[in-house]
Amino acid sequence: MTKPSQEQDKIAELSAHFSGVLLCPGDAEYDKARRLHNGMIDKRPTLIARCLGTADVTDAVNFARANGLEIAVRGGGHNVSGRAVCDGGLMIDLSLMRGIHIDRARRTARAQGGVTWREFNRETQLSGLATTGGAISTTGIAGLTLGGGLGWLMGMYGLAADNLVGAEVVTAAGDVVRSSNDENADLFWGLRGGGGNFGVVSWFEYQLHPIGLVTSGLIAYPFERARDMLKLYREATTSLPDELTLFAALLHAPDGSGVRLAVITACHCGSPGEAVSALQPIKKFGSPVIDTIGPTSYEATNTMLDAGFPRGALNYWKSSFLEGLSDAAIETLAARFSVCPSPLSGLVLEHFHGAATRVGVSETAIPHRREGYNLLVVSEWLDPGDNARNIAWARESYDAMRPWLASGRYANYLSDDDGEDAGQAAYGPNYPRLRVLKTKYDPTNLFHLNQNIRPGS
Ligand SMILES: Cc1cc2nc3c(=O)[nH]c(=O)nc-3n(C[C@H](O)[C@H](O)[C@H](O)COP(=O)(O)OP(=O)(O)OC[C@H]3O[C@@H](n4cnc5c(N)ncnc54)[C@H](O)[C@@H]3O)c2cc1C
Repeated sequence: MTKPSQEQDKIAELSAHFSGVLLCPGDAEYDKARRLHNGMIDKRPTLIARCLGTADVTDAVNFARANGLEIAVRGGGHNVSGRAVCDGGLMIDLSLMRGIHIDRARRTARAQGGVTWREFNRETQLSGLATTGGAISTTGIAGLTLGGGLGWLMGMYGLAADNLVGAEVVTAAGDVVRSSNDENADLFWGLRGGGGNFGVVSWFEYQLHPIGLVTSGLIAYPFERARDMLKLYREATTSLPDELTLFAALLHAPDGSGVRLAVITACHCGSPGEAVSALQPIKKFGSPVIDTIGPTSYEATNTMLDAGFPRGALNYWKSSFLEGLSDAAIETLAARFSVCPSPLSGLVLEHFHGAATRVGVSETAIPHRREGYNLLVVSEWLDPGDNARNIAWARESYDAMRPWLASGRYANYLSDDDGEDAGQAAYGPNYPRLRVLKTKYDPTNLFHLNQNIRPGS
């Protein structure tokens, strides 16, 4: 920005009409507000604009543009790459924007950009409704939906982005634009997978579905059975009903003992009777050390894994879709997990099928519509002294899986050091169209702290 005194004058000018809170270094809440889910991220913006509504977002965008400030946008603050904050520049923080309105008759929900899935589900479940959200309740609806959004209900109802029916966006020019299939439809296409590239989304509107009790939980076997359990998982996922979404993971026991486990997590959103028969092959596999699979609320399902992802833990993730899950790939996963250095880390397989895979590659901006597996190497630890060891384990594990990696990568899991090619891998054949859209809505790349799409044709 300019000299400190001029800087103060400009901030005072902004604060004269700003409804939310403006924080500068030294302010009491500043340090708390700049921190994200990933404790590795330690950046210091010149100004944090904690917006209360769309008018504040508009003022913040205009202020940054007029003063040549870099912009970072914070929704839920969960992205591991830490792009929701910047050094210098303006952090547009939506975490005070938590309004949610449910329209029971239309079965839709409107939610502001700072809402998390926990808050969203609490409100929708009051009406016996839900939509596809993240597997963890503390994740923000904003970043997750804009990047695609996979979760427990995706086999039945598609990705979170597939359930988006409208959005309100503050563009780089500071205009407030509504977007849906009927209004600015080009933008609406891009919002469903193109990340935060086209503006700040102040409101999201979702289609909801009747979801009451589901059958969900996790079943865990001793690590010695990991290879057989992953083969069972491969077999089970060849013929899943839409209602059933299954993830598999090599994880440590949740009691902190460090015991290694092979785990399947499940959510069946159909009738309890159908769930029992669909889950039978998994239930009868052997003698589990933990089995929590049973009828429960969707809201509870969304929190069942939360404890494994404490806020402030140090995170470094690697991820890619897989070409398949061969015996050799399974062997490699087991071998890599056997040398995993942190009890919070794990290797996760997320299976795509059903409604999420019946959408055309170019129907929305997110192109990953093939049935199959996404690999997520979750490296998570608590002591900064262990950074090098845990980052190395993630990189080496990812490298060991290279023979089975597909070309596609999920934008929401990419790290800062994944490089330029990762953007291509995330957007696939939709990248050229996304660049044209970026040129229309953000020609100077004002919004670039994201899985960036370069303006151009
Ligand atoms: C513990 C954990 C569990 C996860 N589980 C899942 C899961 O089950 N399924 C899944 O699909 N993903 C999952 N993710 C990944 C998640 O989708 C991404 O990290 C996502 O970016 C988080 O969104 P957020 O709003 O919380 O993040 P933020 O860090 O706030 O934002 C992420 C990106 O989106 C941009 N952005 C945020 N809000 C807006 C907005 N309103 N308008 C425009 N741009 C915005 C930011 O600038 C940034 O580039 C998980 C991540 C973590 C850490």
